[in-house]
Parts: sequence; C-alpha cells; structure tokens
Amino acid sequence: MPTKILIPTPLRPYTGKKDAVEAHGQTIGEALRDLTSQFADLRPHLFTEDGRLRSFVNVYVNDEDIRYLQREATALKPGDTVSIVPSVAGGVVTFEDRGTRSAGPEPRDLEPTLTNDEVKRYSRHLIMPEVGVDGQRKLKAARVLCIGAGGLGSPVALYLAAAGVGRLGIVDFDTVDFSNLQRQILHGTPDVGRSKLASAKDRLAAINPEVRIDTYETPLTSKNALALFRDYDVIVDGTDNFPTRYLVNDACVLLGKPNAYGSIFRFEGQASVFAFPGGPCYRCLYPEPPPPGLVPSCAEGGVLGVLPGVIGTIQATETIKLILGAGQPLVGRLLLYDAFRMRFRELKLRRDPDCPVCGDHPTIRELIDYDQFCGVTPAAAQPKAKTELPPELETTVEDLKARLDRRDAVFILDVREPQEYQICRIAGSTLIPLGDLPNRLAELPSGEGAPEIVVHCKSGARSAKAVRQLVDRGFTRVRNLKGGILAWIDRVDPSQAKY
Ligand SMILES: [Zn+2]
Repeated sequence: MPTKILIPTPLRPYTGKKDAVEAHGQTIGEALRDLTSQFADLRPHLFTEDGRLRSFVNVYVNDEDIRYLQREATALKPGDTVSIVPSVAGGVVTFEDRGTRSAGPEPRDLEPTLTNDEVKRYSRHLIMPEVGVDGQRKLKAARVLCIGAGGLGSPVALYLAAAGVGRLGIVDFDTVDFSNLQRQILHGTPDVGRSKLASAKDRLAAINPEVRIDTYETPLTSKNALALFRDYDVIVDGTDNFPTRYLVNDACVLLGKPNAYGSIFRFEGQASVFAFPGGPCYRCLYPEPPPPGLVPSCAEGGVLGVLPGVIGTIQATETIKLILGAGQPLVGRLLLYDAFRMRFRELKLRRDPDCPVCGDHPTIRELIDYDQFCGVTPAAAQPKAKTELPPELETTVEDLKARLDRRDAVFILDVREPQEYQICRIAGSTLIPLGDLPNRLAELPSGEGAPEIVVHCKSGARSAKAVRQLVDRGFTRVRNLKGGILAWIDRVDPSQAKY
C-alpha cells in the first residue's frame, strides 16, 4: 500500500508541481528513495551526494520527527502520512509544568498601576479571568523587541501596541516601497519612501499613545544583537533571511529570552516558540541553513498578502501568553499553516541534546559570522558573482534594441514564469520558464543558419543559468541579456510597468 508524502511549496518545482505524491516502501528510507526515483530532480534537495538525508530537511511520520523514531529505518503503517518540512526565505507544555509563572518579565514588586484612561482602553482584557488587572499590569511592564517592521512585524507591532505592551522596540533599516503595501499594514501609501521605523512609530502612536516605542535603525548584527536583546523580555522574529534568523535564535538562547518565531512563503507559514526554558530552539529543528538559492525569498517567490497577517498574529498571541504566563505556549510544537487548503497542522519538536547552541554540551557560546554560516556572499563581493558569464556570452539592452531595429534575426527567449510574463515582456519573445527549459530544448532554433538566442529574465540571474545550460547542451550562438527586462524597461521601453 503506498504512503502519501506531502510536498512543501519550495520542493514542488521538482515534483511536477504536485503537493502530494504516493510512494512505495516498508520504511521511510525506502519510500523516500521511491519518491526520488519518481522525481530525480528532487534527489539533490533531499539527499547529499553520499546518500544521507540533508540536515535542513526534516521528515515527519504523522506528527513525529523521524530523528526521534528509527530515522530512515522507521517502519510505515497503512494510512501513515509523511511530511517533508524544509526550512523556509520556520509534547504540549504548560507554564505550570515549567514551574514558572511567566517566561517574560518576572512579576515585579513595583508593577505599574493602570490609569483611569487605561482601565477604559483595556476593559475587554480586564474582565477576562486569564488577563485581569494583574495581567494587564504585566503587559504594561513588559518589553518586547520586534525584529523587522515588514510583513510579520506589522501585525505583531500593531496588536502588541493595541494590547498595551508597555515598551515595544523595533529593529529595521529599510524604507517603505510600493511593493510592501500589499502586506505590510503598518505602512500606508503616503509613507512610501519614508523610513519604515518613522512610519511605524507614527502609526503605533496613533493606535496607542500609552506605549513607549523605541526604534533601532540598524541591521541586526553579531556585534549589536546581545546588547539590544538584553533590555527586552521577549524577542519576536519577523526576519526574512536565514543569517538573521540564526542570529536571532542564537542570541535568544545565549540570553535565555524566548523567541516568538514565524516564517512565510507564498501560501504557507510556520510558527513556534523557541529558546523557552527546556524547549527546543530553531537549530534543534534545522541545524543548518539550506544552501543559498535553494529556498527563494518572498521577493523572488512571492507571498500572499494576508499570510503574514495570520502568522504575525499568532506570534503576537504567543508573545502575550508568554508575558501573562498563561495558557499553553507553542513550545515544542511547530505549527504549519497552509492557506491554500486552509489547514493547520502541528508537529512535535524536541530539544536536541546535541544541539550546538542549546544542547547539553554547546559548542556555540558566542555569536558567530552568520553570513558565512549561511554561505551568503557579503554585499561587497556580490557584483563579482553576478558577472560570472564571460563577456562573449553577454549582450546589452541597447545592442538588442539596435539589432531588432535592423530586423536582424534574433530569437528572444524569456525564462521567467508565466505570471511575470503577463506583467511585462519584450515583443516577439518566446516564454519557456527556466525549470521547463531542459525538456523544451527542441523549441529553440539550432543548426546551420539559426538565429542567435538572446536569453532574458527579470534582472539577469536566471537567464545566466539558462545560458550556461544551453552552452552545456551544445548551443553555440546564445547570449545573456544583462540586467534583464528591468534594464530593458529602464533604458529602452519605459512605457511598461516594473515589478
Ligand atoms: Zn537547540
């Protein structure tokens, strides 16, 4: 009897876009090998060259991590569902079990009292037994640091300010862009071009002037993270990249501050609470980041605008529970949200005794170089990486325009996705998305007298990959359009919209 294997969004390009695949095998290892024999392109994403499961991919049978069963030898029963949970550009524990009243601020002797205005403002909290006056005073005394004022940071900051968290810190150094407004509801159309922190501060002050907002207009780094975090009780991870996510995790573990984690991609999100006493951390879940380029960012892969609203609101909820010391925190549990099917699932997480940062014998005792750890090229070295192609394999938008005006025979190959092609395109181009290219080579001109192929994408990176593939397959007359369609719109056809 076949086993159903659920395929997450980032891996679906390798399974013919299928979100679930049936595979045969008595054990997890056999089923995964059957899966990768059905979809050979998936193999390098799941297994190392010597055949071991990659460490940034977690495999679950139902809600159990196979690392805590018999790993790849785990036997499969009829009706089992296997989930592959890669890191995504994210036992029930109660506070009583932990013997602590609150993971946030310890109740202080001098908790602030509430003013009459505050009693009116928070009355719907005050009449709840789980919050009450004491809980509201804890919220007023609490200090929460939100990393990022973007998609996740927006609902987090809005709800925590409205709820009366006394001091809210926000770290960000970006400015508001039109493409942010579809999901970053802290900012409005008149804020485009302003600093996100200035915009956030105005909006939050309008919602609740009682809250102190501290802004830090700086990238979070190994140098400043510990000093910044030290002043706060709970850290909310609203980051969108792996180096910062590992940095936030490690700094939280080193300082013993709980980390309300969330991450989003297209229609899917994850949430959990890490670095809670005795609970797992992000590195227990994903010891290593995926190699650069494997997991697309929201800028490359897109994200449903409302998705960070759901995940960020869960992070805000967990933060409030941590401050109140009430309820069952999302510790030791990874919540997965699939907005497309409107389904929540929950997987068990355990603290890994061998975790390099929160394990029994930690090897990481101070913050490290996270760009290096994640294999990210430092910004200064990036232009070099982008000009990987030799000059004879490149051309410019001006040159392409001149050749088209002369009516030279040129085959323009667009390797973007169909939804990008709908936004803007070069007239006369042929669309073959990069992922489909290996199977559609017959559609390209080849042989004696064939026109030259000029390949383009949005900004030139995907098309450079395509040019390499074509050269490897024996195509001789092929060039990459430097700067992609964005350069074409900037310098040749400004009438089209950029995205
Ligand atoms: Zn850990």
